[in-house]
Amino acid sequence: MRVVLLGPPGAGKGTQAKIISKVLSVPHISTGDIFMKNIREETELGIKAKEYIHKGLLVPDEVTIGLVENRLEEEDAGEGYLLDGFPRTLSQGEALLKHLESSHKMLDAVVFLDVPHEELLLRMEGRRVCSSCGASYHLTFNPPREMEVCDLCSGHLIIRKDDTEEAVKERLRVYESETKPLVHFFELKGLLRRVDGTKEIDEVTEDVLEALQIKV
Ligand code: ADP
Ligand code: AMP
Repeated sequence: MRVVLLGPPGAGKGTQAKIISKVLSVPHISTGDIFMKNIREETELGIKAKEYIHKGLLVPDEVTIGLVENRLEEEDAGEGYLLDGFPRTLSQGEALLKHLESSHKMLDAVVFLDVPHEELLLRMEGRRVCSSCGASYHLTFNPPREMEVCDLCSGHLIIRKDDTEEAVKERLRVYESETKPLVHFFELKGLLRRVDGTKEIDEVTEDVLEALQIKV
């Protein structure tokens, strides 16, 4: 299955993608995680991406589109994938559909996680991420078993550099102008499935699976 998880920053895309990709047995491809890993490893891509990410801006399409196209050509993505955080602009959406068309493949669905602004602020304020595997936690809504330690890999939990008040404000502004138009774009293509992202994590998972018509 080829699925896109769409939604504002902090909606729970990464949290859900980690669970759903296992159920679907497809790789979880997160552009955010790819950029963050490159920043940690101080690669050329990481150094370039950091300039934008820490200010709450999008990494330019010229960088992002090629990166994803190459990733989708890797062997593990042959039978499907769950895209998290891509596309984020109309150009990226068009490029994805063009890429699929050129390889005679189809997108199965775009799941839109709908979460209002005030809730997004609370979620990003309390978010902690694993500096090693990228898993996402929340101090109140989804705390780790042990303070500051990742349940999955025992990595150290940190605050994302772009979860500062200023960067969050900018990311929400950028979401409204650059990413939100994709909701209508995919709706017109008949691919959009809306899911209420304000429920508990388990309930959102159930609703996403139902939207994808997956029975577990
Ligand atoms: P995104 O990948 O869309 O930016 P994350 O998956 O990192 O979002 O989630 C943002 C924050 O909200 C994290 O701290 C996460 O633990 C928390 N979170 C995710 N889903 C829910 C939910 N359904 N209810 C409450 N908190 C959630
Ligand atoms: P995320 O973890 O999905 O919130 O992504 C973290 C940051 O990486 C975003 O705020 C952007 O700066 C950058 N990023 C992730 N995905 C994309 C994308 N598809 N296009 C441009 N920038 C992106």
